[in-house]
Amino acid sequence: MSAAAPLLRLVLHDDHAVFVLRQRGREVAAALGMEHQDQVRVATALSEIGRQLPGATVTFTTEEAPRPRLVIVVSGAAMGTDVSEGVASAARLMDEVRVEDERIVLARRLPGRPDPQRLDAAREVLAASAPTTALDELSVQNRQLVAALEQVQAHRDELLQLNAELEETNRGVMALYTQLSEELEQTNQGVVALYAELDERSAQLRDANEAKSRFLANVSHELRAPVTAIIGLARLLLDPRSEPLTAEQTHQLQLVQGSAGDLLDRVNDLLDLAKAESGRIEPNLAPVDLAAVFGQLRGTLRPLAKPGVELEVDEPPAAELVSDDVLLTQILRNLLTNALKFTERGSVGMAGRVEGDQLLLVVADTGIGIPFAEQRRVFEEFHQVRGAHQAGGTGLGLPYARRLAGLLGGGLMMVSEPGEGSTFTVSLPLRPAPAEAAPGPSSVARALLVDDDPAARHLLRQALGGIAAEVTEAADARSGLAIAVRERPDVIFLDLRMPGGDGTELLAGLGEHPDLAHVVVVVVTAADPAELPAGALDRAAAVLPKSEVSRAAVAEVVGRLLR
Ligand code: ADP
Repeated sequence: MSAAAPLLRLVLHDDHAVFVLRQRGREVAAALGMEHQDQVRVATALSEIGRQLPGATVTFTTEEAPRPRLVIVVSGAAMGTDVSEGVASAARLMDEVRVEDERIVLARRLPGRPDPQRLDAAREVLAASAPTTALDELSVQNRQLVAALEQVQAHRDELLQLNAELEETNRGVMALYTQLSEELEQTNQGVVALYAELDERSAQLRDANEAKSRFLANVSHELRAPVTAIIGLARLLLDPRSEPLTAEQTHQLQLVQGSAGDLLDRVNDLLDLAKAESGRIEPNLAPVDLAAVFGQLRGTLRPLAKPGVELEVDEPPAAELVSDDVLLTQILRNLLTNALKFTERGSVGMAGRVEGDQLLLVVADTGIGIPFAEQRRVFEEFHQVRGAHQAGGTGLGLPYARRLAGLLGGGLMMVSEPGEGSTFTVSLPLRPAPAEAAPGPSSVARALLVDDDPAARHLLRQALGGIAAEVTEAADARSGLAIAVRERPDVIFLDLRMPGGDGTELLAGLGEHPDLAHVVVVVVTAADPAELPAGALDRAAAVLPKSEVSRAAVAEVVGRLLR
């Protein structure tokens, strides 16, 4: 038989026929491999239509294109009757219900392409099975109803359980969220407390350090006068024009004079360091004649070289350096004196070279070197390496040299190999660099920090140390503006995102005060400025990403904008 031949055809002769139609519809669907649910859909749709069309002929066929479908055609009855109710119900159950002139076509997709053998088999089965009674069909229908109800009930139960599980999960998430919030709050409180303590400790440390410098300066100053007097008196006694002394007295006096000289050197070292620490040394910047500096050091220090040690001072590079030649000579003399002191054979050398905008001055020796464990500590005040390394001195030379290099806007670095020698490198900006040119406490600037985050304010305050003479803080835009109006700072570091009025509000507020027109605003933000509305930052002089807040960055911005 061909695939196009109908699977089954039946005529709805009487009322009973609707039950038969229902039953046969289900059987056809089953024979085509449709699922149970689909069988019920087909059966119910047919009975809805059939109910309204006694006498109609119902033909079951299949089609393959565009996709495999069961197609049922109801025709030949009094098609003029209103079947809209049945069609509406059937349309909800089938994929397609089409009312044409003389017929109604219903279609429902098949689970797969039915092969001809299967269709033949279906035809045979359907031909063989006899329709049952209405009662039988009713009981089948009842069973289907019960099954459907059970399925609905099962779905409902499943839904209830899902709901319960969801609620429980929600409660868990809420509990976790609350716990996390509490932990976060506690951590925040801890951090704030830590910063407060840090501030306090820093202040104590600063006070203690200042007290120490004051003490050193005072003591050294007080000591200098009597020591100088001792040296003077000894010189007087030793003067040939004074009363003659015995040989022993002369010898003893020479010892007194030598010791007093040593003492004066140390007192002077202390005084120098105390002065450098308290910022009382002001570099006197001018073009430096490097050849003269090198020549003077070569001449004065050569006598200190031990036998078998060569002092090799190269010609300096032809660089135009602006710095303080007295302080620079002091640094180099300290390094060369140490090198000569701690070198028994080989050489001590000094050379210079230019790298970018830096002048590097290198003092290298082939001496005893510094044990690794001591390498950081030799820059601490009064620290001397014990044992063979002890050779007089105060332990103040290196910290002083490093401080002076810092004052000149540069630094001092060391590499040392125990037993092989040490290399000290002084780096100096060829021209006074930002760090050195950064405004000192006396020269600039009153800064206002506006940020709701105390940690961010703390960082900025640290970065501004030594750059701003006075730092005021505000935690939101409104009080920031009030402080700006009252105190007229030179520069405002402004966060953008703050609860209760953001940074752009403060920028707008500043615009309304003509007497605040001079205030430089640096926006410090974690946000991407490109995402802000156009013009929002017009009043800002610079934008500094939060992640880049550092002393150098702040010094650069302040130096550039407030010069
Ligand atoms: P000091 O007045 O004792 O020389 P410094 O601060 O100049 O004080 O040096 C500290 C210590 O570092 C010295 O006591 C010495 O042990 C070590 N040191 C410094 N320079 C050298 C060097 N070139 N070679 C070996 N050790 C050195």
